Amino acid sequence: ATPTALLVGTGRAAQQGIVIKGPEILESTRRIDTVVLDKTGTLTQGQMSLAGVDSLVQPEQHEALRRGERPDGGEPSGEALLMAAAVESGSEHPIARAIVDAAAGPMPQARDFSNHAGLGVSALVATDGGEREVLVGRPRWLAEQGVDLGGAEGVPGTQELVDAAEQTGATAVVVAWEGRARAVLHLRDTIKPEAHEAITELKRLGITPHLLTGDNRASAERVAAEVGIEAEHVTAEVLPQDKLDVVARLQEQGRVVGMVGDGVNDAAALAQAGSRGLGFAMGTGTDVAIEAGDITLVRGDVRTVPAAIRISRRTLRIIK
Ligand code: ADP
Ligand code: MG
Repeated sequence: ATPTALLVGTGRAAQQGIVIKGPEILESTRRIDTVVLDKTGTLTQGQMSLAGVDSLVQPEQHEALRRGERPDGGEPSGEALLMAAAVESGSEHPIARAIVDAAAGPMPQARDFSNHAGLGVSALVATDGGEREVLVGRPRWLAEQGVDLGGAEGVPGTQELVDAAEQTGATAVVVAWEGRARAVLHLRDTIKPEAHEAITELKRLGITPHLLTGDNRASAERVAAEVGIEAEHVTAEVLPQDKLDVVARLQEQGRVVGMVGDGVNDAAALAQAGSRGLGFAMGTGTDVAIEAGDITLVRGDVRTVPAAIRISRRTLRIIK
């Protein structure tokens, strides 16, 4: 490949919002046969909104419920949302932004925030009586932290509420304090209107698309079906540190992988893909992802993934 031809190729790419870190990268782009796409922020807008709150019935309310009475207890769902928002104000995750935006009223103070990647967040939140540790995250992680997930005969527990929310395609997180689950929050994201076209175009180029996400299986499969990714190519509920392994496993099978992602949690997988293929970072995503990627998709438009591959194929065909 002549340097001039490669420069023409990278120049053409740049005009379409595809920034390539070095001209030699076009060679790996051309060989890609598998594209692994992150879900949140890559195939979806990554702008979640709160779609519902289920309060968990607490043990002291079970008796009233069994008698067919409405258990009292003020306005628990409002309190749970405020508690969650106080914790999430320390996080940059799309889930966090949705919860903070939805919480009305003055937010309680929080300190000692900690983020458990792919699992949830926690902090100490100020209350009238002092302070309490509030956790927001996946049910399994909360159970590991010793949280009672509730539920009893005739009373739905956390897992049932989460399952029901996920069946509707939502992402569900649980709010807990003082050792008990308090509420399940439903969050909704929107699929990018151009995602389906991008996947169709990849398939037309003979490339197999895969979906990789830390989110739940039901929501992942729903997005996959809508954009045209086969259910067998969906890997869900993956911890950030394990995203890299999914890419490495495909490489071991002899695939040349392009990974597309936007989050801090995608950076390692982007770098892994780049070692033997290519990492595409959404320009609308985090700086960490952009640094780890070989190509930046400036506008965050997934259609520029097949466009980059087409340009590389054309450039290198002319040269040979
Ligand atoms: P994705 O691959 O979709 O970007 P992540 O790895 O960031 O997913 O998160 C996976 C899961 O971890 C979320 O669906 C959620 O259950 C939990 N989680 C991550 N961050 C948070 C947060 N800030 N608040 C609550 N839950 C979170
Ligand atoms: Mg993401």
